[in-house]
Amino acid sequence: MSQHSSRGPAWEALRKAVLERDGYICQHCGAEATDADHLIPKAMGGTDVMENLVASCKPCNSKRGAKLLVRSAGVNARWLDAL
Ligand SMILES: [Zn+2]
Repeated sequence: MSQHSSRGPAWEALRKAVLERDGYICQHCGAEATDADHLIPKAMGGTDVMENLVASCKPCNSKRGAKLLVRSAGVNARWLDAL
């Protein structure tokens, strides 16, 4: 049994709180957000706290990595899209 996104009720509550804080707007592209994304990936030491989470749409949430980290740092890097 392999659910696509089975992070448990705690994550669902946290995700909803993040979405409400950010007004259900993707903090990466401004589209409607349906998910929450880690600013610092858990693999890099990030944790499941509000400060490390932003509202994100599905396309943005699926393309993680350096791009999101740079954007999260407040860099208006349109050239990143060309990478
Ligand atoms: Zn987005």
